[in-house]
Amino acid sequence: MKTLNLYGAQDLRYEEKPNPVLTLEDEVVIKVKAVGICGSDVSRYKKLGPYVKGMTFGHEFSGEVVETGSKAGRIKVGDRVAGCPTFYCGECHSCLKGNLSQCEKLTLIGARYPGAYAEFVTLPASHVLQLPENVDYESAAMVEPSSVVAHGFYRTSVSPGSTVAIMGCGSIGLLAVQWAKIFGAAQVIAIDIDDKKLEIAKEVGADVIINPTIHPLQNHVAEVTDQLGVDLAVECAGSPVTSEQILALPKKGGEVLYMGIPYADIEFERFYFERIVRNELKVIGSWNAISSPFPGKEWESTLHYMNTGQLTIQPLISHRLSLKDGPAAFASLNNRDGSFVKVMFLPH
Ligand SMILES: [Zn+2]
Ligand SMILES: [Zn+2]
Repeated sequence: MKTLNLYGAQDLRYEEKPNPVLTLEDEVVIKVKAVGICGSDVSRYKKLGPYVKGMTFGHEFSGEVVETGSKAGRIKVGDRVAGCPTFYCGECHSCLKGNLSQCEKLTLIGARYPGAYAEFVTLPASHVLQLPENVDYESAAMVEPSSVVAHGFYRTSVSPGSTVAIMGCGSIGLLAVQWAKIFGAAQVIAIDIDDKKLEIAKEVGADVIINPTIHPLQNHVAEVTDQLGVDLAVECAGSPVTSEQILALPKKGGEVLYMGIPYADIEFERFYFERIVRNELKVIGSWNAISSPFPGKEWESTLHYMNTGQLTIQPLISHRLSLKDGPAAFASLNNRDGSFVKVMFLPH
């Protein structure tokens, strides 16, 4: 089968590999219909390098079940499915407490199992979710990132009537705009320096859009929130600058949710750091998407809201490619040459 394999930083190869073979009774083989490029894949490509040299990576995917082990339970050949690519150990302190996303040995396909930049992928049946009728394969490839965003929102105290600011309108930010509405936000403010992404934010439900290169960010947020600030500000850009600026957006007693990871040091000017102290902000981190019972409510609710149409994915997909375009696509993403939101491979 055709695959994309990472050999080192910026060394991605399009190669033929043997089709996967079932080795465990509880596994299934999935024909990959759609697989998205995650921001973390680009970081891994850029400088972090592979978990295992030559490993097929890619973890945001959907597909059709083509083979099942004898103990695959409810999963049948022909099922349309999304995969949960994350593995927890089940033995560490966090796992025993039921906090699976805090597992000491959290790992992904692309590390322990080969990943989904391939024509076929293998997963344990317990990691496989059947798709409701209205969820197409491309949307289903975004079940994982959507669950990541949902996981973050479940950690906040956002409630009906809240005002929410979303910093950064890449695919995670655009999902966050929609999740803010699902969690009951009355007003969602989307912030990005790319007007094209702001237009998509509007299309998927943002009430106010702000380009901080045109309007001073803090003033503008104050203006649209009766000078109060927002109940919740969500950092989805993952840059050192936005990780600092986000602290100026919540009202007193408000919350900041960090979902992006800047791969660089962050310095806080005194003004921003004092926001935490003087305004008694709650600063919340969020990692991964799984919870107990595995894979967790994040996944069930994602499928539910994709099925109802309250989560719309199609506007987020900017590129549809075949696997052989992989090396060139990663090079462009790395050089930021072009406007990308979600890039998807359709391996068949
Ligand atoms: Zn991801
Ligand atoms: Zn664990």
